[in-house]
Amino acid sequence: MTRVYMDANATTPLLPEVVEAMRPYWIERFGNASSIHLDGQQAHSAVDRARATLAEFFNCHDAEVVFNSGGTEGDNTAIFGLLRPGDHFVTSSIEHSAILAAAERMAQFGVAVTFVAPTASGLIDPATIECALRPETRLISVMLANNETGILQPVQEIGKIAKAAGAFFHIDAVQGAGKVPLDVRRIGCDLLSISAHKMHGPKGVGALFVRRGTPLDPLLVGGSHERRRRAGTENVPGIVGLAKAAELAMHSLEDGTLVHLAALRDRLEAGILELPGTGVNGAQMLGAPGPGSPRTGLRPWGGDPDFGTWESTNPVPRVANTTNIWFDSLEGEALVIALDLKGVAVSGGSACHSGATEPSHVLMAMGLGKPRARSSLRYSLLKTATEADVDYALKVVPEAVAHLRAISPVAAGTAG
Ligand code: PLP
Repeated sequence: MTRVYMDANATTPLLPEVVEAMRPYWIERFGNASSIHLDGQQAHSAVDRARATLAEFFNCHDAEVVFNSGGTEGDNTAIFGLLRPGDHFVTSSIEHSAILAAAERMAQFGVAVTFVAPTASGLIDPATIECALRPETRLISVMLANNETGILQPVQEIGKIAKAAGAFFHIDAVQGAGKVPLDVRRIGCDLLSISAHKMHGPKGVGALFVRRGTPLDPLLVGGSHERRRRAGTENVPGIVGLAKAAELAMHSLEDGTLVHLAALRDRLEAGILELPGTGVNGAQMLGAPGPGSPRTGLRPWGGDPDFGTWESTNPVPRVANTTNIWFDSLEGEALVIALDLKGVAVSGGSACHSGATEPSHVLMAMGLGKPRARSSLRYSLLKTATEADVDYALKVVPEAVAHLRAISPVAAGTAG
């Protein structure tokens, strides 16, 4: 059966070049990067080369790159490594759980936390961050791109606000890395986390940019790896794979791949929107206030014009590969299963907690309401997506929707 994978924001497959780059470091070049003999030196220089590639990817110094186990670790390190009782932390209610759960943990230890709500279009208005600041605000953390909607946040403006307030600024760039250029100098952040497996690299490896001079306590202590900022024997094959994925991502940012990807996403989106009772979550409602947002309007995207410009048809900037669509009179989970049976892998806008399906906290924070949040699906295309993938999805989605609506108690109005 044809299988079309449209869940790239969950994870991506390794590109063949990444596998090839990693292969020797499991077998012939298996040395420990801390050993002084030749085998160790080979591993060490592979890590050094990878660090230089990541420094180029971030536009920072080599010494500002800390390798780790991925996005969760980077996010946790920024929060646990900087905040102390009595501090104030500002973040948004649409962050990944790696931020939200860490913030909740810090709140139990005497850190005051403010969760800023998005607008209805899914954007964090920088003015709401500014309003939340207190004299004791030590850290602000806002994601670059939302994992569910793909919406790019105005991080450059938030960076200026953080700097003016004397607060540190962390960006969870896990879903933006490889989809928009990462320039930490231009954005003006102190910390930025990425994860290899979201950009066609291996799982369980990532990197944290730490601006020189940032007083960050390590999360893991032990050996003196990573300049004492992250103890533990380096995952050399993983680090090499991350660097190769970053190198390929830098090419894709320039060779038209993402423009093509945005066109595919737009064709998919337009095709699905031809179905009655459908719509895109976020992105198209520029200016509408969200719950908790004191503003009635929204300042336009504050970044440089050439930063995050792969937005093609919608007014709010989004990464090229993602769309989040609601389907009237449908349970999103039922549609995920129906599409999976037909060979299309997508993701519901909801997460499963202890057996109970909760509507997405991101969509709820945008003020969508439970029925619409539950009816929403995220389509996130791989960088390698093809016209044929979109053709196939556009064939099976309408069939599945029509079938489910025909038999749905939600559609019949009996679901409460
Ligand atoms: N942050 C965001 C925005 C994510 O989407 C994810 C993964 O889904 C993470 C952090 C966690 O990254 P990792 O899977 O590398 O721990």
